Amino acid sequence: MHDLEDLKSAQTLGIMGGTFDPIHFGHLVAAETARVAFGLDKVLFIPTGQPPHKVEHRVTDPWERFEMVKLAVAANTGFGLSRIEIMREGPSYTIDTLRELRGILVDADLHFITGADALRSMLSWREPEEIIALTKVISVSRPGYPLQDLFETIDQYVPGHQDRIFQLKIPALAISSTDIRARVQEGRPIRYLLPDDVKSYIEKRGFYRDS
Ligand code: ATP
Ligand code: MG
Repeated sequence: MHDLEDLKSAQTLGIMGGTFDPIHFGHLVAAETARVAFGLDKVLFIPTGQPPHKVEHRVTDPWERFEMVKLAVAANTGFGLSRIEIMREGPSYTIDTLRELRGILVDADLHFITGADALRSMLSWREPEEIIALTKVISVSRPGYPLQDLFETIDQYVPGHQDRIFQLKIPALAISSTDIRARVQEGRPIRYLLPDDVKSYIEKRGFYRDS
């Protein structure tokens, strides 16, 4: 069972993957800027089930992260949300997700949206050449993660990527989930870093207080 029925008419689709622990305005501005710049019919947020590379800290329950994303994307009809990674057993590998999406949305023009840091680590993910064969990649700028030398590295790993990987400059927001979690733990403010509804949910559920 998947939750992508109403996306079958989408011609061009953005995919915004992340742990979203919690979702914040950096994610939302990346998705919205990419949606408009590339004329995407929809950007689909896909929270990871079990992030393979985030073993160093405890990750919040997938359905709680899903709930926070739901609150954050509700007001934008150009945004959608899928639980396909959460439903899949084992670590969430992007390549598996893209293959699954491709199987369901056979004709869609897929665009994987990723911050510069995640693109860099993508080279160490499973099957990077396969990823860019299945989807175009929109590499959005992120403060603290320069892009220049990254593309030289990509040249070595995935030759001929020029028409598959695009750079997109977005408003610079030096916001990260790691910083938000630390702020909550230390009792510092998080208002204006993420949607108010998400902030309220974090407070109600008592997340990150003793991480
Ligand atoms: P953490 O600190 O826990 O790693 P994060 O803020 O990096 O959290 P993720 O869920 O890891 O958020 O990121 C999901 C995607 O969003 C990644 O592609 C990441 O590069 C991108 N992203 C996150 N924050 C920003 C930001 N402020 N600007 C641009 N892209 C961002
Ligand atoms: Mg991250």
